[in-house]
Amino acid sequence: MTSASIGIVGAGIAGLHLGLFLQQHGIAATLYSDRTPDQIRAGRLPNAPLVFGHTRARERALGVNHWDDPAHDVRSFYVRVGGERPLAFRGNLARPAICVDQRLYQARLLEDFAARGGRVVTGPIAAGDLGRLAGKHALVVVAAGRGSLAEIFPRVPEHSPYSAPQRRLVGAIFRGITPTDPLGAGVTVVPGHGEVIELPMVSFDGLRIVLGIEALPGGALEPLTHLRYEDDPRGFADLTLALLRQHAPDLHARIDPAAFAPTRPLDLLQGALTPVVRRAYARLDGGACVMAIGDVQALNDPLTGQGANTASHSAWTLGEAIRERPDGPFDEAFCRRAEGRLRDYADTVADYTNMMLQPPAPHRLDFMVAAARRQAIADEHVNNFDAPARNWAILATPEGTAAFLHRHGVVPAPALAAS
Ligand SMILES: Cc1cc2nc3c(=O)[nH]c(=O)nc-3n(C[C@H](O)[C@H](O)[C@H](O)COP(=O)(O)OP(=O)(O)OC[C@H]3O[C@@H](n4cnc5c(N)ncnc54)[C@H](O)[C@@H]3O)c2cc1C
Repeated sequence: MTSASIGIVGAGIAGLHLGLFLQQHGIAATLYSDRTPDQIRAGRLPNAPLVFGHTRARERALGVNHWDDPAHDVRSFYVRVGGERPLAFRGNLARPAICVDQRLYQARLLEDFAARGGRVVTGPIAAGDLGRLAGKHALVVVAAGRGSLAEIFPRVPEHSPYSAPQRRLVGAIFRGITPTDPLGAGVTVVPGHGEVIELPMVSFDGLRIVLGIEALPGGALEPLTHLRYEDDPRGFADLTLALLRQHAPDLHARIDPAAFAPTRPLDLLQGALTPVVRRAYARLDGGACVMAIGDVQALNDPLTGQGANTASHSAWTLGEAIRERPDGPFDEAFCRRAEGRLRDYADTVADYTNMMLQPPAPHRLDFMVAAARRQAIADEHVNNFDAPARNWAILATPEGTAAFLHRHGVVPAPALAAS
């Protein structure tokens, strides 16, 4: 181990990947976790991240790919658009994705870190504690997710277009849904109302289906985001079923209504978040610089499935920057350079995700029609979930889409977009 010691606040995927990376490279790190592994396992479903090939490769490199099993591999991703002009396509993932219940994942990786000799301090860290931690560590990294610690990092307005949530969210593990064969994830777009996301997740009792409802405020899906499951479990399941019957009929067709229900009250989350990009470092009153990774630095709506993948990427990127100069100094010049590397990736993810929250412009509709007609386009689109800058380059402008379709020999018919 080198003499430098890195303090990491928060043991989600960002903090854990950074801690394990540093540990693997002989750099001492302390993880400050608000909860013990058992408390994490006993908690509420915090999220439902599908992670793609790059993140899985990092997990393998860290030796924490405990759930790798061909039976858990998500091999395809479907997109269905309902409404007046329905369309559908299914892309095949060249490198399968996986979704693991983060209560299992975080608890196990925290145990791995400790078992490999890492130091874990349990208990929540407040903003006022950061100065004390900065006195103990060569660098403090805040990886505490979407809580209040993020507020010490200034908001970046040019990548934070929203001042309110764009969707209200429900995520829950359900029984009574037959997975697709081959195992796939997918999204049903309900124009004007939001999206229904389906993810096969490895949870406590094996593979289950998580449904994520992304409800546009005021739309038909929104009532489910306000209905308290604990108050009326049967009513909650019945309303979900009724909404799926009407708005996601293909998914509804794989449901056994008699068995359909959330698995446990704790396997359900409801809420809303306002997407925001923040500066990746801040100066404390005492002069020390602290860095931000994961959701602290860039909080994205879950719609495009990028948050955990970006959090892992940010951990790796910062880990590499620390490894290049393990004895520091981790001063403002270091933090500014590291920030450039982090935001190079994260800003584009935020721009891409924020665009996808808006109703599609005509060129995006042209793209969807082309993907529904040509398998190679559908495949490239879903594989680019693991390279979001490519989807951004293709979808951000009419020119980008036209160039992409041209490469595939497709000339978009204007009538498609206009009809
Ligand atoms: C419904 C839903 C679906 C999602 N789907 C996807 C998806 O398909 N793909 C994808 O990539 N992403 C997805 N995401 C986003 C993804 O879950 C997050 O981006 C990711 O978990 C962020 O990781 P993180 O480590 O930064 O933060 P977190 O996972 O939030 O971890 C932070 C940890 O720090 C702890 N902590 C908080 N405050 C303190 C404190 N003061 N002191 C000490 N510890 C603290 C927390 O308890 C937590 O354990 C989804 C999110 C939601 C809500």
